[in-house]
Amino acid sequence: MNDRHAYAHSTLKKTLSERLPLLCRLRGWRCTRGSFEESRAMKAYRDFDTVSVNGQKEKILVSVRLRPLSDNEKSRNEVSDWECINNSTVIYKGNNPDRAMLPSAYTFDRVFGCGCPTEQVYTEGAKEVVFSAVSGINSSIFAYGQTSSGKTYTMSGITEYAVSDIYDYIEKHQERDYILKFSAMEIYNEAVRDLLSLDSTPLRLLDDPERGTVVERLTEEMLQDWNHFLDLLAVCEAQRHIGDTSMNQMSSRSHQILRLTIESSAREYQYHHLGARNSSTLTASVNFVDLAGSERASQTLSAGTRLKEGCHINRSLLTLGTVIRKLSKGGKGHVPYRNSKLTRILHNSLGGNARTAIICTMSPARMHVEQSRNTLLFASCAKEVTMNAQVNV
Ligand code: ADP
Ligand code: MG
Repeated sequence: MNDRHAYAHSTLKKTLSERLPLLCRLRGWRCTRGSFEESRAMKAYRDFDTVSVNGQKEKILVSVRLRPLSDNEKSRNEVSDWECINNSTVIYKGNNPDRAMLPSAYTFDRVFGCGCPTEQVYTEGAKEVVFSAVSGINSSIFAYGQTSSGKTYTMSGITEYAVSDIYDYIEKHQERDYILKFSAMEIYNEAVRDLLSLDSTPLRLLDDPERGTVVERLTEEMLQDWNHFLDLLAVCEAQRHIGDTSMNQMSSRSHQILRLTIESSAREYQYHHLGARNSSTLTASVNFVDLAGSERASQTLSAGTRLKEGCHINRSLLTLGTVIRKLSKGGKGHVPYRNSKLTRILHNSLGGNARTAIICTMSPARMHVEQSRNTLLFASCAKEVTMNAQVNV
């Protein structure tokens, strides 16, 4: 076995052992080391190459990330009420009076405890969805959660790991030519703004019969290299709308969508050699979506502007939840994409063939228990998941 084979072999083995429990759970198989189910799962995993249910590729990957207690929370003697007991279940271990009424264990595709680095969150909770765009399938990655739960921390890390990983991939796949394009927008109070332009006039959404919803006049930068990408991220950061609420001074009250479009085509020498015409051009986008805080408007001493923001945020998050829920059940019947700008813009990257990853972020602090429960409820509704009334730990 040469070095390349050895590397490929060890990667496959590692991937299998990481993904096996998930595959078994999705298929309802009992999985113990060396069992018949394990060898069946190994074979199924190789056959489908990616996690699949009944032969269909999983379209929605839902995970939860618990952040550590912040210094502020620690200084108020807050305690951590949540714990990840394995890589797919998070449990409530506090003694809230209504504990008996609510589920205490929540199971998702993946859960990430407070010591988990963002790189692992990217690799296990988003990477395969990101890479579907390299093979021509649109995708979206969302960070959902209350203000200060770690959405921006998580999503900005994931975006950087993803783009760096795509550059690595391109370098290793010289048989194709790749073009990366980047655009960025913000939705604040249902108005769409270009984060790569100094002009803050709201952008219109147009319905194009071929391309679906198009954001008119949105800047699209052709990425030259990694440093160019970092420069553009800095521009977005500076432009992003931030308001101060009583919960978090710099809390974000807008949705941010960073969109990377990947175009690739087979290199010329290849199709000359094969005597064929280049018909294998692929184009797809991956959207990195940092959603506005999911807390209710009433929690942020709402009045005037803040209340209006809260209403818009609630409506768009509610629509997003409904759209994702309907899609996870096969997308039959009416899917209300048109009820919010967020879902209209993402229409082509949600449902159909598209892949979606949702990373729900939460604070472990007791003071946030109600919001954490709402976040877990959103995550549970996004996908049919197991919620046990009690678990023994
Ligand atoms: P949000 O975007 O949800 O409002 P942020 O991403 O701004 O929240 O996170 C709030 C604070 O918590 C920031 O100071 C951030 O650095 C910190 N933080 C968030 N998640 C983590 C984490 N997993 N590990 C360490 N610090 C975190
Ligand atoms: Mg944020």
